[in-house]
Amino acid sequence: ERQRHIRNFSIIAHIDHGKSTLADRILEMTDTIAKRDMQAQVLDDMALERERGITIKLNAVELHYKAKDGQTYIFHLIDTPGHVDFTYEVSRSLAACEGALLVVDAAQGVEAQTLANVYLAVDDDLEIVPVINKIDLPSAQPDVVKEEIEEMIGLDGDDAILASAKAGIGIEEILERVVSDIPAPKGDVEAPLKALIFDSVYDSYRGVVLNVRIEEGAVQVGDMIELMSNGKKFEVTEVGVMSPKAVKRDYLMAGDVGYITASIKTIQDTRVGDTVTNADRPAEKALEGYRKITPMVYAGVFPTDNAKFNDLRDALEKLQLNDAALEFEPETSKALGFGFRCGFLGLLHMDVVQERLEREFNLDLIMTAPSVDYHVKKTDGTEITVENPAEMPDVSEIREISEPYVKANIMVPNDYVGPVMELAQRKRGEFVTMDYLDKYRVNVIYNLPLSEIIYDFFDDLKSNTKGYASLDYEITGYRPSDLVKMDILLNGDPVDALSTIVHKEFAYDRGRGVVSKLKETIPRQNFEVPIQAAIGTKIISRATIRAYRKDVTARIHTGDPDRRAKLLDKQKRGKKRMKAVGSVEVPQEAFMSLLEVN
Ligand code: GDP
Ligand code: MG
Repeated sequence: ERQRHIRNFSIIAHIDHGKSTLADRILEMTDTIAKRDMQAQVLDDMALERERGITIKLNAVELHYKAKDGQTYIFHLIDTPGHVDFTYEVSRSLAACEGALLVVDAAQGVEAQTLANVYLAVDDDLEIVPVINKIDLPSAQPDVVKEEIEEMIGLDGDDAILASAKAGIGIEEILERVVSDIPAPKGDVEAPLKALIFDSVYDSYRGVVLNVRIEEGAVQVGDMIELMSNGKKFEVTEVGVMSPKAVKRDYLMAGDVGYITASIKTIQDTRVGDTVTNADRPAEKALEGYRKITPMVYAGVFPTDNAKFNDLRDALEKLQLNDAALEFEPETSKALGFGFRCGFLGLLHMDVVQERLEREFNLDLIMTAPSVDYHVKKTDGTEITVENPAEMPDVSEIREISEPYVKANIMVPNDYVGPVMELAQRKRGEFVTMDYLDKYRVNVIYNLPLSEIIYDFFDDLKSNTKGYASLDYEITGYRPSDLVKMDILLNGDPVDALSTIVHKEFAYDRGRGVVSKLKETIPRQNFEVPIQAAIGTKIISRATIRAYRKDVTARIHTGDPDRRAKLLDKQKRGKKRMKAVGSVEVPQEAFMSLLEVN
């Protein structure tokens, strides 16, 4: 029957190794997309993805492949993001698959995210088919990469397919191997419906669109379905598959990957990882779902116009449907008014959320500098979690502050071990160990405070190693540190949204840095504005913005022309985003200046 001809698989790889390009070739080879409609990285359909050349969201498409055995197979291909911030998207798409193509760049070899993704696939018991991509490059070293695949991943290197997604080499072999190596799905078609929601998106006409993998049973238009986590019932209005545009179907059955709509208007009802079942013949037990993911960084998000608070809430709720890792709760700032404290997986995630809120929901936002969450033991014996530096209790009430630590795996060629260690030490890193992976490469392991890694660690790492280092990290726990809250006062008033938690050793330097940065970013007003950095009641740094005179343009002191251009660009976009803080007009980038100092 039909199920025997279904193959559900994902493509996993380190960023830039060629997943999206390979997906393009596969779509072409299977005539899923007509040549004239083909554009590069066609599955990256979000404007933001196209501009940045990265995959942010997982994407599922159905395609049909006529194999050499004369039979036609139905493939569900799920393209996934490679950046460490979006690992959660990867783990969700893998749960919907029986196998994965593991793409490794023939010139770069196995990297940190390659391994991290392999571990996810192994956890899900997926069949892994290794593909060595970019063999067209003069610098390609397929034999070295084969060895790495054997030694570091434990797969037979000779099984690896040699391919070039760009030049279209090896694509047919890949498709044949999908048929022969990846098992067909097994679920019982006659059983009660069990469908895993792996993604969802809000559509103003159809309501919530559920992207599902049917594990057991079948579903068709008119069925009453039930969401197992909350017992809510809905009547199915449409089922179909993405190919890559939505194509309606009569039914979906065990093994299929597709979508369901059921006039679901209340966003709060649906949750990624939930199980959909038949209302009149419910499954006994829900599918395992996904582990809950905790954000790593938090930032305040405020509308520039306070009247837009409800629009922002609405936008966050809709975005959360499509971005299960996003968290938010209302926050009030004396300086910025009503907004939300949002939790993100990392800075790239935060950046993407901000851009999506602005573009897809037409909002103007002020974001505060990101912060990690701290565990605070108070002198009265209680313990609290502080996600917002402004809420850090007074020094006199604090016994101990702990901060999150990560174990960072940094893979780097031999020659760059020195600079990597120097950087890690400077970021308060604690050396753990160092393994030689092969003759050329080393895996350096450090324990590092998360707060040091989220800002510009990755950028610094790349620039210190000519782009050769790759990074992967996981939170390992909390450790007490010598931390203090640094306040910033404008015109004598503390601005809660500018408070940060800093390590005591760096407090003076950071205070000085932030004050001078603010002096540059805050435009002159028609009165003199003193800026001060303070720890408790002690002022550690100060500067003054002189009163406004004509023809004064902000000066930017920064050596690197790239960085300067970026900054200017940010400023242009942030220009209209001024917020009156007390009597002082403060631009968006002032809040981010906390990030640029270290
Ligand atoms: P992803 O991040 O894994 O999705 O990678 P992309 O598919 O976006 O590819 C990253 C870059 O590598 C793009 O500039 C591609 O054009 C390029 N690329 C992908 N496959 C090949 C290949 O087989 N050969 C060469 N030379 N370049 C490739
Ligand atoms: Mg991609």
